[in-house]
Amino acid sequence: MENVKICVLSNEMQASQKARETLEKKLESEGCIITQEPSSDTDLIISIGGDGSTLDAIHRFNFPTAPIVGINTGHLGFFQEIHPEELDQFIFNFKTGHYQTQELITVQAVVTGSDGREHVHTGLNEVIIRGSHTYTSHFNISIGDSFIERFSGDGILIASPAGSTAYNYSLGGSIVDPRLRLLQVTPIAPMNTTAYRSFTSSILLPSDLSLGIVPDYRKDDTTFIITDGMETTYKNVSNIRIGFSDKVIKLIRFEGYDFWNKVKSKFL
Ligand code: NAP
Repeated sequence: MENVKICVLSNEMQASQKARETLEKKLESEGCIITQEPSSDTDLIISIGGDGSTLDAIHRFNFPTAPIVGINTGHLGFFQEIHPEELDQFIFNFKTGHYQTQELITVQAVVTGSDGREHVHTGLNEVIIRGSHTYTSHFNISIGDSFIERFSGDGILIASPAGSTAYNYSLGGSIVDPRLRLLQVTPIAPMNTTAYRSFTSSILLPSDLSLGIVPDYRKDDTTFIITDGMETTYKNVSNIRIGFSDKVIKLIRFEGYDFWNKVKSKFL
């Protein structure tokens, strides 16, 4: 592994710091170059912590193209692949090429402000569109060029397959195998009464269709765009278009990785 460039990132937890120290020593003794930030010639990014740490790293470094492997010192560890006690096995597998790369597609929202300017937000798990936390959100929703419904409720979550096991799942959305190329549109507390009619279940969209949202402001003109837990506030947005992003996250997975076994071990 002479001159292999590895960026090691970790959260502040004591277990993560300890794993980082041990790992860096082991990688240096193999001849690797350790960095604190990824660059265009980084061979591997190692994220120590939980899924939250991996999401933070992905956003901090603007969806890096280098493959990422997670060491789980966190709670759940859906993206994470290695336990801190498996460092020697991990180094051996990486060195000998015994791994596969899992490509995760991402979701993007293009927000058009009242001045006509466009702002792009990308999420690995999901993009959430919601209005003020106090009032009902009303959105006119289209799919492709067709107007579909006037949604009323708390908001709309659009999950990638990777994010289907996160907030989407808590909202009653379906778990999607990450090999499928689709987006899941899941309503958050939809109102379905004689006054307001909204879909109450998730909608699945193929990769060539996008979702359009035009807010219908009543008491407040705030719109929140939340990508992977990171919130941006807008006023008087004119429309939002959500579809696939061309950014792809590559996760390293080792022999024995199986998405459905991971789901079983984390959820059942
Ligand atoms: P966070 O505390 O970083 O994460 C909340 C929980 O979601 C953690 O247990 C985290 O795992 C887990 N998680 C993250 N991505 C996942 C994935 N793809 N599949 C399964 N579990 C996953 O929360 P945050 O900073 O607010 O937002 C990060 C993510 O948390 C968001 O993208 C959102 O999907 C999710 N979230 C869920 C809810 C909910 O379920 N009601 C509410 C808000 C946010 P670790 O313990 O390994 O970090």
